[in-house]
Amino acid sequence: MSAEVEDVADLVIRSRRVVLPEGEGPAAVAVRGGKIVGVYSHDAAPDAVEQVDLGDVALLPGLVDTHVHVNEPGRTHWEGFASATRAAAAGGVTTIVDMPLNSLPPTVNADALAVKREAADGQCAVDVAFWGGAIPGNAGDLRPLHEAGVRGFKCFLSPSGVDEFPPLDEDGLRAAMVEIASFDGLLVVHAEDPALLADPEGPGYPEFLGSRPGEAECRAVERVAALAGETGVRAHILHVSSALCLEPLAKARREGVRITAETCPHYLTLMAEEVPEGATQFKCCPPIRSSANRDELWRGLADGVLGCVVSDHSPSTPDLKVPDFAAAWGGISSLQLGLTAVWTEAARRGHGLGDVVRWMAEHPAALAGLRGKGAIAVGADADLVAFDADAVHTVDVSTLHHKNPVTPYHGRTLMGEVRTTWLRGRVVGNDPQGTLL
Ligand SMILES: [Zn+2]
Repeated sequence: MSAEVEDVADLVIRSRRVVLPEGEGPAAVAVRGGKIVGVYSHDAAPDAVEQVDLGDVALLPGLVDTHVHVNEPGRTHWEGFASATRAAAAGGVTTIVDMPLNSLPPTVNADALAVKREAADGQCAVDVAFWGGAIPGNAGDLRPLHEAGVRGFKCFLSPSGVDEFPPLDEDGLRAAMVEIASFDGLLVVHAEDPALLADPEGPGYPEFLGSRPGEAECRAVERVAALAGETGVRAHILHVSSALCLEPLAKARREGVRITAETCPHYLTLMAEEVPEGATQFKCCPPIRSSANRDELWRGLADGVLGCVVSDHSPSTPDLKVPDFAAAWGGISSLQLGLTAVWTEAARRGHGLGDVVRWMAEHPAALAGLRGKGAIAVGADADLVAFDADAVHTVDVSTLHHKNPVTPYHGRTLMGEVRTTWLRGRVVGNDPQGTLL
């Protein structure tokens, strides 16, 4: 009797479109104790306390967004853990990794991490992990942060936008890499070479774009790759916006440098030619570039030079988005919209849901060392998303869970809708059930 009881799953979800690591097709996924305990053919699942049949609605693993600026504590009016994680769940994201800057204090030592964890505790709808920060003078804090559980360290080579998180110079970068390599950690880099950046010569988008050329990214990637090769550190280039980065990245990897890279939904779906005048909800650093550049980024994804697509959700209050590209806050809000924005463009370009899942779940989970996340597989956490891939909707910013109603996607028609999100086998609702990882 007891053996039979144990064989009954808590939950079985069937779909004609289950996106598994080996491909997409009809299947049934069984969940017990918050874990995936079996993947069966569509009509052969075991008994379960609860049965869900999604029909033609797809079943995806919960997405893993490794680039989210939550901003709490300190700038909670920009975004907080409760609102960010509700937005994540509504967008099919079941794990976020929080960036170390824009909150106060920045996460640059173990005490600051403890403050951040305390702020997050008990109010997260999805799972939350943390990046630490590498800034001038804190090399001695990196190992304690690593031991306290951060997934890696973020640094800037150019000014970050906030005074309390200064960039590393060449010596500082090398010192951070040597230290991080000593415990085989990961350094994630905002790569723009400050020597090639300038103040915009006017308030418009063309002047802003001209002030942050693709060459600045390319040069910075070359520097990071050279130093990563020299020190042996694992390095990752954040938010690649310029296709000029693709060749240096590919070359470094051919030479055995441990370097990976990501891009973001806005670089893949928006383009400079379409940024309306004064519409600084489109401002981010590095900037959204030309349509031709966007095509090249898609090629980089298809080739595998770019491995991850993550949001770089970096919100602010609306008052900081003044209609002047030189003065406005640089950051795009999109946490809830990344999946549908990317899927809309991916489908148009002939990619499948399996590609999107690889870029937005499997690879980010691997980057941040999040075992049991990012794939529908036996033994993994039952973080799952029912995704109606064919539904079409028009984005209305007032319906998003983001704390502030600012996003360049407002009014855009996107394909796909998240129907249900499960975290460890439980439907994500109003009751915060996320874990701090
Ligand atoms: Zn960022």
